[in-house]
Amino acid sequence: MKNTVFDDILAYDHICIYRHVNPDFDAYGSQLGMAAIIKQLDPTKKVMLKGEINEELLSKMDHDFVLDTFDDIKGALAIVLDTANKERIDGEDVLDCDKIIKIDHHMIVDSYGVINIEYPTKSSTSQIVVELYKEAFDQKMNKEAATYLYFGMVADSNRFMYRNTDASTMMAAAYLMDCGIDIEDIYQKMYVRSVKDLEIQRFILNQYQSTSKGVAYYILKQEDLDELQISRSRGSDFVNMLSNIEEFEVWLAITQNIEKNNWRVSMRSRRVVINTIAEKYHGGGHQLASGATLNYIDELPSLIKDLEKAIAEVKE
Ligand code: AMP
Repeated sequence: MKNTVFDDILAYDHICIYRHVNPDFDAYGSQLGMAAIIKQLDPTKKVMLKGEINEELLSKMDHDFVLDTFDDIKGALAIVLDTANKERIDGEDVLDCDKIIKIDHHMIVDSYGVINIEYPTKSSTSQIVVELYKEAFDQKMNKEAATYLYFGMVADSNRFMYRNTDASTMMAAAYLMDCGIDIEDIYQKMYVRSVKDLEIQRFILNQYQSTSKGVAYYILKQEDLDELQISRSRGSDFVNMLSNIEEFEVWLAITQNIEKNNWRVSMRSRRVVINTIAEKYHGGGHQLASGATLNYIDELPSLIKDLEKAIAEVKE
């Protein structure tokens, strides 16, 4: 039986689309992709994108369609994408909406929607959106929607390299290619680097640290962000500079947040499950890619110790 989620969506004239805080390409890709799909299906629908804007990421996605705004969201539908739990939704007013549809690929910890479409084995939320659309309609998705969704799929599967990539991922990617996307253009936008990026990478390579038990990390204090002239949200963008190093099982990016008076940790792992450890430090995520928060940098040795213990257990 075909899914009927688009019937539920199109039953509303006003639709707010949310995603998680600290947005990444999958959060934006699924959000913008869903918005473009709704506009394709019915241009008269008012679709408002919710959440803070990260210009750096968004500008790479060339998003150029005119966004709707409306004041009263009481009767509106909320679609929340790529967000495991209510607390991580970027936009507290989600609760003012009439109904929530959750679409997500994280582990199921909080089914906060009236409708919950949760597939933790899928490589990205963008992939789920592609599959929902493909199943429901014979008519091809337009190039714009397909492009946003491809951004999300590529980012969360790390160019189809992560284990979460399976045959269904490739079929969803093939479908998007049939919709006319320009993959060379997308990869250019995602991966082209500037001299400034190179400077940041030099800084990180000069100051990263590692332990003899397989944990590597870099720390960006506020003064470092100032010196490098980057926003706090970009602090973790370079975490995978420490990936694919034989000696490192787990690698971290730690960025100071002076506004919240804490430290944001992005965690990545080759094979050791880290989301349970992230949960201990006010975070969560996927088995091999998680986020956490330290209230004090003094908590870092304890986090590293927990990671080293998990690494030792896997090696036993
Ligand atoms: P990040 O390092 O922020 O890119 O996060 C890696 C993955 O973990 C992403 O899928 C995030 O959505 C998820 N994640 C990060 N922080 C949290 C959190 N506090 N709770 C649940 N999931 C998180």
